[in-house]
Amino acid sequence: MKIRESTFCPVCESTNLTRLERTKDYKYKGKDFSVENIKFTVCDDCSFEFISPRQRAHNDTLIKDEQRKLENLLTSKEIKKGREEILEISQEVASKIFGGGINAFSKYERGEIIQSVAMDRLLRVAFAQETAFRFMAELAGIKVKEKIKTVRKISDYEYVEMVSPVAANSYSYKAAVRKETVFKFKNNPDKAAA
Ligand SMILES: [Zn+2]
Repeated sequence: MKIRESTFCPVCESTNLTRLERTKDYKYKGKDFSVENIKFTVCDDCSFEFISPRQRAHNDTLIKDEQRKLENLLTSKEIKKGREEILEISQEVASKIFGGGINAFSKYERGEIIQSVAMDRLLRVAFAQETAFRFMAELAGIKVKEKIKTVRKISDYEYVEMVSPVAANSYSYKAAVRKETVFKFKNNPDKAAA
């Protein structure tokens, strides 16, 4: 989707425009936060300030990511990185496995919408637990690659390796136990509840 850049002032129609950036303060659910690199345009002739559609899309992504951080949700970059580097699936396949509609991941990763807490938890589980991810894929009737890499870093989340016994075949509830590497989020506020 291509978003148009404004080429003239909406007040005086001058084409002499200067595009600038600034840090702006916002409020979200009673919490204050500021965002750097908020883009806007100033008309050189009448000094009118406005935000073009393209600048608004850029700003919205930054603002929504800050709101995600306030709610301890994965950012758009973390979702994209996890999908591409850990799960190694396309946006379309991810939407089929995790639900949320055909364009869900394109919207999460562009910052257009914020994922629900339920979707966020599901993503964290899939990023950390290969068995769980494969089970979700199977439920959706999707075949995923045999071996997915799980040792990755997603921005400030660091994975700590540990060993836990996991049923070898959870679908048939076999008692067999095998070693599987699982990963826990360091600095994750949810850690205490785990
Ligand atoms: Zn103007």
